[in-house]
Amino acid sequence: MEKFDVVVIGGGVVGTAVLRSLSAYNAKILLLEKSSDVASGASRANSGIVHAGYDAEPGTKKAYFNVKGAAMFPALTKALGVPYRMVGSLVAAKEGGLPALQELKARGDANGVKTEIISREEILRLEPNIGPEITYALYAPEAGVVSPYKLTIAQADQAVVNGATIRLEEKVVALQKSKDGFILRTEKGEYTASYVINAAGAGASEVNALIGEYAPMETHGVGDYFILDSKEAGVVNTVVFPLPDEKGKGILVGPTADGNVILGPTSRKVPHERAEENEVTREGLDLVREGVKRLIPAVNLRSVIRVYAGTRTAVGSDFIIEQSARFPHYFMLLGICSPGLTSAPAIGEYVAAAAAEALGLTKKKEFLPLPARFHLNKSSDEEIKQKVAEDPAYGRIVCRCEKVTEGEILDAIRSPLPAHTVDAIKRRVRAGMGRCQGGFCRPRVMEILSRELNVPLSSVRMGDKGSEIAPYEVKEGYEKV
Ligand SMILES: Cc1cc2nc3c(=O)[nH]c(=O)nc-3n(C[C@H](O)[C@H](O)[C@H](O)COP(=O)(O)OP(=O)(O)OC[C@H]3O[C@@H](n4cnc5c(N)ncnc54)[C@H](O)[C@@H]3O)c2cc1C
Repeated sequence: MEKFDVVVIGGGVVGTAVLRSLSAYNAKILLLEKSSDVASGASRANSGIVHAGYDAEPGTKKAYFNVKGAAMFPALTKALGVPYRMVGSLVAAKEGGLPALQELKARGDANGVKTEIISREEILRLEPNIGPEITYALYAPEAGVVSPYKLTIAQADQAVVNGATIRLEEKVVALQKSKDGFILRTEKGEYTASYVINAAGAGASEVNALIGEYAPMETHGVGDYFILDSKEAGVVNTVVFPLPDEKGKGILVGPTADGNVILGPTSRKVPHERAEENEVTREGLDLVREGVKRLIPAVNLRSVIRVYAGTRTAVGSDFIIEQSARFPHYFMLLGICSPGLTSAPAIGEYVAAAAAEALGLTKKKEFLPLPARFHLNKSSDEEIKQKVAEDPAYGRIVCRCEKVTEGEILDAIRSPLPAHTVDAIKRRVRAGMGRCQGGFCRPRVMEILSRELNVPLSSVRMGDKGSEIAPYEVKEGYEKV
């Protein structure tokens, strides 16, 4: 049985933020994730907005961690090399919507968030394509957009660089209190830990139930999205929301951190058993189309390159971020719905500090940075020339849409947390994220994975177990004619 000081369950943006912060302490730490990669749950499929913090009810954990987390993004994303842009956001209202905007502004003021109510004239300067019915907006200049999965992956990578262990495809199936800590069992192994942090997202109630901790009912809301080709990037500059309603912040139109346009999400209730299905529905997409037309009618829905859905997990109205009263070295993170992505870095610091205090951990003398990566599409001609001279693999383009080279794919496979599936490569370097959605590059990415991992092409997977892309030879079992 391997022994650890701290075990984190769940490799979403929250679990990896905790792990990264913990890796600054002298401790043996482990993260267990049931899927084939980190960023497989809500942290993969969301809006990617770094909310300014005017929406959360003052005095709540949501408000506290949102505001603190948002302030960390500029420095954190720069250090981790993660795409982030402070583009600002607008809550757009029609005639009659002014009192609701004033209410939101008052909430923002109470949370210490910079906002301003602006007129149609001022809106048009920011958003020339705004819908004709929009007369006022609440402008939050410090809202931003980030790549949620790249943030999750980079946090995991930096934790590994600083000595953390991550085990993928290890679902925690048993958790029990022992004399001096906890025993955890996964589908593959057994571990002991002095401290356990439950950051299992939609699975957090099940993990709680394993140890006999109170497992409150969760509610789930699926959000459907469209992603538009990057050629449409000019249609919107800020993140444009409608007025929020009882279902949430509403269907937005905004830029993504990587230069596409995002439309969505809806909020369709699903039962807990279906929380991880993430199925897009036609009705959901129709609602997105309708919502978007009111905000930015110029949006070109013929440029859709992808649809996807993500599932929110809520437990009551606020985040549950607390140490268990029954098991003092067991920390619970439940119902981390929006603004959970924004809050994650601040939650990570808070929870790591709580574990460090409980175990008397000291800080390491040095916290190692994540080495910078080469990206062809972000490099100057001179940088490209130099890199290709060092290694010709950086001159071989594999993904034409996003201009990703074989060298970058090899870097992803050899990362601190190695990519071993087609989806894991896609999330790290964007091979397959462009206009053709992998139509051209997927076979080549599969060949590279097969060669580098030394496995047959037939066992190269898209993502989780059972997702082999080409499990059979063409015409296998047929007689030659
Ligand atoms: C549609 C939608 C839009 C959103 N938009 C935004 C936004 O714009 N801005 C914002 O700030 N927030 C947003 N959010 C919220 C944000 O995405 C979440 O708060 C955040 O991703 C939660 O991260 P997490 O790490 O808690 O959960 P997850 O990312 O779900 O991670 C939990 C992980 O635990 C793993 N796991 C589960 N059970 C086990 C087990 N037994 N053993 C091992 N591993 C296990 C899962 O596989 C998963 O990888 C949105 C959410 C959704 C769904």
